[in-house]
This record gives sequence, C-alpha cells and structure tokens, in this order.
Amino acid sequence: MNIPDPLNPPSRLLLGPGPCDAHPRVLRAMAAPLLGHLDPQFLEIMNAVQEMLRAVYQTQNTVTFPVSATGMAGMETCFVNLVEPGDRVVICVAGFFGQRMVEIADRVGAQTTLLERPWGEVFDLQQIRAVLQKVRPKLLAIVHAETSTGAWQPLEGLGALCHEFDTLLLVDAVTSLGCVPVAVDDWQIDAIYSCSQKGLGCPPGLSPVSFSPRAVEVFSKRKTKVQSWYFDANLVEHYWDNERFYHHTAPITMIYALHEGLRLILEEGLPARWARHRRNHEALKAGLQALGLAYTANAQHQLPQLNAVRIPAGVDDLAVRRRLLKEFHIEIGGGLGEFKGKVWRIGLMGHNSRPEVVLLFLAALEQCLASQGIKVQAGAGVSAANRVYLTGA
Ligand code: PLP
Repeated sequence: MNIPDPLNPPSRLLLGPGPCDAHPRVLRAMAAPLLGHLDPQFLEIMNAVQEMLRAVYQTQNTVTFPVSATGMAGMETCFVNLVEPGDRVVICVAGFFGQRMVEIADRVGAQTTLLERPWGEVFDLQQIRAVLQKVRPKLLAIVHAETSTGAWQPLEGLGALCHEFDTLLLVDAVTSLGCVPVAVDDWQIDAIYSCSQKGLGCPPGLSPVSFSPRAVEVFSKRKTKVQSWYFDANLVEHYWDNERFYHHTAPITMIYALHEGLRLILEEGLPARWARHRRNHEALKAGLQALGLAYTANAQHQLPQLNAVRIPAGVDDLAVRRRLLKEFHIEIGGGLGEFKGKVWRIGLMGHNSRPEVVLLFLAALEQCLASQGIKVQAGAGVSAANRVYLTGA
C-alpha cells in the first residue's frame, strides 16, 4: 500500500457543542512521557485527579473517577450500575440527550416513564413531584445542560424532592461541568457524569462520574450482575480506590490531560470561571441579537456555554457553516433531532470562552449572513458585544 502522508490537521476554532479547543497547557501535558499505569508516580497522579474532580464536582463522594471513554460511557455506567431489569425509572426529556437516556434505560431493561417538555423548555419541581408521586421510581434522570437546545435545567431542590420518594437522582453534566455551578453534595445528586472535551478543556476520551454513598449502596447490593463488565462500578472502583486492583489499562495521556485541565480550573477558581463564562455569553448574546438571531431557550434558562439560536428564514444552514469553516476556520454546530436545519449551536466552553473569540466569531458570522442576504449595519454584532465588555450593558 501507499503510506499516507503524515497528519497535518488544520488549526480550527472549535465553537460547536464539543469538542472545544483544549487549553495549550493541556496539550503540552499530553506530550509528557508515558508511565506504566501501576507506576507509583502514576498512582499519585490518579489520586490527584480524583481529589481535583471532587473539588470541581463540589462533593465529598469517595467513588469519583473518570471512566475511560467519552460522555456516553458515563451515561451507560450510571444506568447499568443503578438500574436492574424491571426497575421503574423516570426520565425527563426536553431534547436529544434526554432521549438518549431513554434508549440506554431500555437496554438495561428498565420500566421507563417519560416526563416530557417541548424542546428548549425546562422542568419545574411541581411537575416532577407529580410524576414521582404517581410512579414512585427507583431513579429519576435529568440533563443539566441540554446540548441540543441550549436550555439550562435548574437542579436546586431536586435531590431533596427525589429523596422524599426514596428515588435516586441521576444528572447528566456533560455540557455543564466546568462552565456553570455543579454542586453535587448541596443538590443531593446521587449519580452524575460529565466529559473531558467541553468545560474541562481537554480532548474527548474521559467521562468523570461520581456516586453518592446512597448510590454506592444500591449498586453494591444488586440482585443481578451489572450487564457490562467494563462499566461495572463495583470492579472499576477498586482500580481507583486504595486497592489499585488491575481492571484495565488507564489511558495515561488522557489522565495527564485531565490532570492539567482540572489544575487550570482550580487555579482560576470556580466562581471566577463561572463569571467568565457568563460575561462572554452576555457579550455573544448581545452580538447575536444585533445580527437578528433569537435564542431557542427562554431568557431565564439560557446556557452561557452553549448558545442555541434559530437560523433566520431563508438562510442556508450548511452554506453558512461551510463558509465559516472554509474561510474563517471556525466550527459551529448544526441542529440535532427536531432542531436539525433550524438551529445553530455556538459553544463558548472552557478555554474558548474569551473576548477575542467572541469578537472574531461575530465579525465572521456577519460576513456569512450578509452573503445570505441578511443586511445589518456594518459591525453591528461586534459593536453590541463591545458595549457589553466596555459598559456591562
Ligand atoms: N450528554 C450530553 C448532554 C451531551 O451533550 C453529550 C455529547 O455532546 C453526551 C451526553 C455524550 O457525550 P459523548 O459524545 O462525549 O459520548
């Protein structure tokens, strides 16, 4: 065969729903020499990663570790461990990823009840109380940051509500961790999963999970075996706890990346990081609105890190995204599921949540929209964003 040329991927600005660009310090950490996965020095790195993950998740949960695969593996890990065939489960669905949970729960043999809202909306405690009262499920699952719609689901009070009914609370924090507050202990979350490639500013490949003592008790007293060997938390746990019992070979380089990504978050400080995401979102939003774009989620529930906006009538979705990529090396996301062709998803996550990124993107988007016949005053988007940066208004 002809040996292919060496890799030479172009440098893009990844402003879609993820992956986002990894921080340069994370990429440097990934170039460090490999250690054996049971090397005493690597074990120290694993300990540090767990300790930092607990800080970022705001939890004391002992069973907190990164699953060696992407966010979907975190989702599967939570379901396969906490649900046994025939268990009643309620899943809150207001977008693509809520729907995904339903598919996983079905494969695990759960008796699933869907609590649905139109895409772009969020759930309130009264609605959830009503379904808990009716179904009395073992577990209720909900997406904190619905990446398909840009809606930000409030979680305060939900853990306490679930526990009134002896129900476990499972949360998808794939698009929220590292961008907006995630307070696992205060919000009484029993199981949570995230990913490395969004708010944690690393490449895809790891899915940090955390289980409350109540959840650990549930999976350690299961009547049936966990369907998946690889994701059986009873086994993986002993690789990550003091036993360091061989389970699989940890993806060493990805653990280095996560180590650096978490260090960056803690150096910045969680409140400062959330405030940075909020500020750049406000500037982007002012700019997008000045370009005539409307958000899909209502004003109280818009995620700072994932800006989902409706594509204006008559504008060719693909033509705009192709031009952004070809001429400006900027990637944004198209719509998923029922939002396909109707919505753009603009991510400002982790390292990419910066003023220079916002200003460049708005300037590029203005050109692309102009080529589609959308006329605005020259520089309207950039100017509106700058007003936010300069005056806070
Ligand atoms: N859950 C949500 C809310 C997501 O946005 C995604 C991916 O974007 C996933 C789960 C799945 O994660 P991954 O694609 O890393 O497997």
